[in-house]
Amino acid sequence: MRILITNDDGIGAPGLLALAREMAELGEVLVVAPERQQSAAGHGITLHKPLRMEPMSLDAPVVEALATNGTPADCVILATANGRPEPDLVVSGINMGANLAEEVLYSGTCSAAMEGALLGINSIAVSVAEYAAPIFEASAAYARQLASRVIEEGLPEDVFLNVNVPNLPAGELGAPVLTRLGRRRYVNELDRRQDPRGRDYYWFSGEPTECDCEPGTDVAAVLAGNISVTPVHFDLTWRGNNGCLGALIGEPEE
Ligand code: MN
Repeated sequence: MRILITNDDGIGAPGLLALAREMAELGEVLVVAPERQQSAAGHGITLHKPLRMEPMSLDAPVVEALATNGTPADCVILATANGRPEPDLVVSGINMGANLAEEVLYSGTCSAAMEGALLGINSIAVSVAEYAAPIFEASAAYARQLASRVIEEGLPEDVFLNVNVPNLPAGELGAPVLTRLGRRRYVNELDRRQDPRGRDYYWFSGEPTECDCEPGTDVAAVLAGNISVTPVHFDLTWRGNNGCLGALIGEPEE
């Protein structure tokens, strides 16, 4: 069993270490992760500069750990290209901070799992809903449990599982529930400050101000203390009644 682990918090992230230790119980673990923080890198890949991979030592029983100057999606490509044996599973995480609702679009954690899914590999993204003092034990244990079942059963084509775990000790954690993506609305506040040379710079400081917390959403599940598992696929096509859109774009009538 070969398991590829990556993340978007960087190869030194404690969540990656917790995940690597747990996954090593299931099989051979290869780690390919960004050399530094890449959160919110989305699904970017590197086309205009050389990609490097440097061997690192990790305090976990992994076969190999490589740090790259690339993005999270690059990591999955680097780990599977040029005849490298294909992993049975890609696990991305454990991310510090939830990846709920539209955050999935910005998330490097989710994009790495999506890249795995696009390559036809069973893939899981795991995040714990806390930035300051994340508890990784429960999420790592659940990731291992889920990983072994996914390896056995497989996932639908082009689908990865986006797992969000509330930041609770194992005993207080609610059951896993299958969810759909909710919707959080961010107000994109930008702090405007001045650098020491008097030039303005900007820093994102937006917080979600409202959300679709309806029952069944990932947001609601995590708020209720449950582990949220959302099957996500890359096809963003809207499948509502698009009769009026046909006329709008000038599509010829039959
Ligand atoms: Mn991150």
